[in-house]
Amino acid sequence: MEVAWRNMFQSLAKNKSANKLARKYGLRFGAKRFVSGESIAEAISKVAELNKSGRVVTLDHLGEFVYTKEEANESTIMSLKTLDEIHASGVQSHLSVKMTSLGLDIDKDLCLNNMRKIVSRANQYGNFVRIDMEDYVHCQITIDIYEELRQEFDNVGLVIQAYLYRTEEDMKHLNELNANLRLVKGAYKESPDVAFPEKKDVDENYKKIIEMHMLNRNYTAVASHDEKIIQFTKELANKHGIGKDKFEFQMLYGICEDLQNKLVKEGYKVRVYVPYGKDWFGYFMRRLAERPANVWFILKNLFK
Ligand code: FAD
Repeated sequence: MEVAWRNMFQSLAKNKSANKLARKYGLRFGAKRFVSGESIAEAISKVAELNKSGRVVTLDHLGEFVYTKEEANESTIMSLKTLDEIHASGVQSHLSVKMTSLGLDIDKDLCLNNMRKIVSRANQYGNFVRIDMEDYVHCQITIDIYEELRQEFDNVGLVIQAYLYRTEEDMKHLNELNANLRLVKGAYKESPDVAFPEKKDVDENYKKIIEMHMLNRNYTAVASHDEKIIQFTKELANKHGIGKDKFEFQMLYGICEDLQNKLVKEGYKVRVYVPYGKDWFGYFMRRLAERPANVWFILKNLFK
């Protein structure tokens, strides 16, 4: 049953018509729990609140289904504006971006050039840009783009997903670039031809890549709400004398707040991924797919 729900939400996340409809009606159905708002002003005020509690942030301007050059350029402008607002307001936040929203499905060079503008603006501000990882079909080209940017910039990082079979090999290669990586389990619907279908295998591979990256003394962002994974990371760091400045924990806005605050109290760096924007539907569906129990939020909020 849980698998059926998961598949349904993962498919809905890719549904353009549902996304268009949702955009028209604004943040609904409990999406406010996971999305900070539709405007940059709302997002910045949420970041300021999180900063007050000792947490830093990475802001993401949501953008899905970008198929024209104009849409990709518009998305780029929104990312640049986000960096400008972070700088002007003085909040503590990085930027996260998705390559498809910057034109990856139209033309790789368009996307790469848009990214150059974004990473270069962030560089001027002494800020950092993280490239989110999307579904498997975009994986290699996203890594290629990261590698090209890495030749020019230090302030850019990538996300790597533990559920993919290819990940261990990718990590070996990325190690040579001293890549700053956010490591995640993986949020997309993938075929068993490319990704571990069983959760226990994903968790094992996750531990393996956390260990690889941390022991190679590369900066590691462990992005998970799984307390066993967090405990594993803490013990690994203690055992090998890896300082708290060499890694951080990351969690999603609206999820496991108590755990976020507990880690801050223990002296760990905690970064919250805060999405905002009108294209909230796909992101919201992926959060429901991760935990179908969240569905009761939809039911509770259906008529609000
Ligand atoms: P799980 O085993 O899925 O969950 C552990 C526990 O966490 C659950 O029992 C539950 O208590 C809680 N939890 C997890 N998810 C939810 C939820 N949606 N709602 C409520 N509680 C929940 N994936 C990508 O593919 N690409 C990315 O670029 C990417 N970036 C991410 C950035 C951040 C900061 C984070 C935290 C995650 C990101 N993800 C990304 C998503 C990730 O791949 C997982 O799908 C997600 O984090 C759930 O896995 P988990 O590690 O929390 O462990």
